[in-house]
Amino acid sequence: MPNLNAAAARDQANPARALRRRYQVALVAIGLLSLLTFSVLELLLARGDGLASAINVAGRQRSLSQEIVYAIERNDRSRLMDVLDQLESAHHALQHGDASRGLPPTTNEATLRAFGDLEESFRGLVTAGRDRLALPASEPTSPALIERALRYEQTFLPQMHAIVGMYEADAQAVYRTAMLTQLLVAMIMLLTLVAIAAWIFEPAARRLHRQWDSLRASQERFDLAITGSQEAIWDWSLPDDRMYLSPRWAELFGDQHLPQATEVEAWFRHVASNDLPRLTEALDRLRTGQSKQIDLEIEMRSSQNERVVALCRGASARDEHGRVTRLVGSLADITAQREVLERMRDMAERDGLTGLNNRGSFHDRLELTVMRSLRDSCFNYAVLSFDFDGFKAVNDALGHSAGDALLVSIAERFQEHLPKDAVIARLGGDEFAVLLHTSEESGYGSMEALLRLCESLNTAFALPHDIGGHPIVSTASIGIVVGNASYNAAEAVLRDADAAMYAAKEAGRGQVRLFDASMHQQAIRRLRIETRLRALCFDDDFELLLQPIVDLETGKPDGFEVLLRTTGPELAGIGPDVLIPVAEETGLIIELGTWILDRAAKLLDRLDRHVGHQETVLHVNVSKRQMLHPSFAKLLRSLLSTHPQHKGRLVLEITETSVMDPRNNLRPAMSLARDLGFPLSMDDFGTGHSSLACLHQFPLDEVKIDRSFILNIEGSREFTAIYQAIVSLADHLGLKVIAEGVETEGQLAQLQAMGCAFGQGYLFDRPLSVEDAMDCLEQSFGRPTHRRTQGRNTGPAAA
Ligand code: C2E
Ligand code: CA
Ligand code: CA
Repeated sequence: MPNLNAAAARDQANPARALRRRYQVALVAIGLLSLLTFSVLELLLARGDGLASAINVAGRQRSLSQEIVYAIERNDRSRLMDVLDQLESAHHALQHGDASRGLPPTTNEATLRAFGDLEESFRGLVTAGRDRLALPASEPTSPALIERALRYEQTFLPQMHAIVGMYEADAQAVYRTAMLTQLLVAMIMLLTLVAIAAWIFEPAARRLHRQWDSLRASQERFDLAITGSQEAIWDWSLPDDRMYLSPRWAELFGDQHLPQATEVEAWFRHVASNDLPRLTEALDRLRTGQSKQIDLEIEMRSSQNERVVALCRGASARDEHGRVTRLVGSLADITAQREVLERMRDMAERDGLTGLNNRGSFHDRLELTVMRSLRDSCFNYAVLSFDFDGFKAVNDALGHSAGDALLVSIAERFQEHLPKDAVIARLGGDEFAVLLHTSEESGYGSMEALLRLCESLNTAFALPHDIGGHPIVSTASIGIVVGNASYNAAEAVLRDADAAMYAAKEAGRGQVRLFDASMHQQAIRRLRIETRLRALCFDDDFELLLQPIVDLETGKPDGFEVLLRTTGPELAGIGPDVLIPVAEETGLIIELGTWILDRAAKLLDRLDRHVGHQETVLHVNVSKRQMLHPSFAKLLRSLLSTHPQHKGRLVLEITETSVMDPRNNLRPAMSLARDLGFPLSMDDFGTGHSSLACLHQFPLDEVKIDRSFILNIEGSREFTAIYQAIVSLADHLGLKVIAEGVETEGQLAQLQAMGCAFGQGYLFDRPLSVEDAMDCLEQSFGRPTHRRTQGRNTGPAAA
């Protein structure tokens, strides 16, 4: 048993061996069966042959019996002897068998009985013959003997006939049996063969069954996996060039007939024409064996012409000779992922608020444009740089969401008024830029056309934007730079566009300027200023000068205006009128303004100590941006806590334009400063758009009438009248009036005549160093009349 079990185990492990064993057993079984069958048939046939011989011999008996009668009748002794012997030996052979004649002994009972019945006639016939032989030869045969012989023969013949019939019946039975046996054997053989075949092939069939089962299971798994993964399968058989496409293709491309297609073109028809060469090239690489696998993203189109982005993977299969015979792979629909990616990429290139290009993408587009124009002299471009003056004020006054809404509205107007191919970008804050193609056919080929475009843009911007119910007007300062061969980088173009924009800004609201080389110098200067400001080394770069504000009645300095001057070599020659706007735009005015106020407080300490009293007043210029900054109140409080004796003696000068700009809403900051103990002065009065009637609306202590008025005062009666009105109204409102820019005695006389109490100007003093200011105070309070210190110290205005 253990051996058998071991053999069975071996067979299971090795199916070929089991098959071989079954073949061997089957061969032996078939051999044995055939041997048995042939033996049986042999026996049957031998018996049939014996019966045939018996029939033959028995038939001969009949003729022998006739010949005996004949020989007796004719007295033919030798013949008689011969036939008698023959008859007797045949008779014996029939009953007992004779191998030499092929006769088997008779075994059939009926035949043996028939032989018993025949015995008498046989004996009688033989005795008649012998009796005749016993007689002398010369004696003729008696008729009685003939008659006796004839009588026996008459009996013998039918009996022998019956025996022959019996043999014949036997023989027929034997042949029938043989036939049946043959038939049976054939059938048995057939069944056996079938059984053996079934037996032999049973393990193979079982294995086949198992394999079929597992194949089906794996097919099901495969189908499930494919359905689950949502991938569309393709399978390209190369020898017959037939393509199989899985049912998912129908879904993916909205084409029910696709899975029935067998040609590769059915697939290719859905591939976007741009990507088709890439796909066919990748498939060729697989086919030629250059690549084992491919993995590429292709853009496809559904039957409804919708975009389908597919990740196409594929591999090749080879036959036993190593030839590539199949390419198989899958398509995964990655449209959604691709769209997310594209959105992300787009977001990286877009300004999140306005949806316009951001600085980075604008720079890239400009860079490409610059490169292209260097290669192609017919390709022209221009860059427009925009700055919206009022924006910061909106932000500060109405909050950041209002500022954002304004930017969005501005962006919309850009898009409405610019050609489709213009690249519009928000570079940051309220800075915008536009890249235009200005080749002849664009319609912007001439300078006039560009200027007209800028004008129409400014007209569009000038229409009020509805920002949370507030009608906001925003004008842009526009700088234009036209591309030329000297530009080889985007930075240079942008820099010059900015320079032109700054020039426009300096010229006032809503202005347009075309870049020229001098602007470049300005741009460089701006950059220098910005760099120095960012270094925050204010002690190294700046100092403060003091310009006396004189009491026109007594001629004595009532106080000083603190004016910023640069000291370091890097900013040499740059006046505050250039510097302060840069500080405001960069936001560095907060730090610089803090430094100035702090410095001014210290100067006032020095002056106080020098003159021994605390009556001197310092006027400090503050920018609107500084005032609106949340840190401003804190700064003022800290100044007062360090220098409590300065309360009421640090006058803050704010320009009229800042105060009057409705977008700024400086009023709360002004009230706060004033309440804390900082008197307020409206600087440059008359340059802004305020009317005299507005003056009372603001918490003010003084008004400084702008220098431009005094320039005209001597010759013009209207100016004199206006001046007089201002002085009277200010007086009426309890405001101190200071005349700026007094340069001549004539002006002084007129001011005095009008009752203007204070003046400031070169006629009295240029801005002075602290030491000079101290001298000035000392001398003035020593002498009652005003003093002239021409040329003692000069500001940049004099330089
Ligand atoms: P502002 O506040 O109107 O200052 C008066 C300007 O007029 C000063 O120029 C001064 O030197 C000049 N000036 C005085 N008297 C005469 C005169 O008789 N004739 C002429 N032609 N000019 C005269 P400066 O110092 O160049 O300042 C220019 C502007 O820069 C100032 O105008 C002010 O707005 C701003 N600024 C100066 N210093 C500061 C500062 O510390 N902080 C801030 N925020 N702004 C300042
Ligand atoms: Ca001033
Ligand atoms: Ca002024």
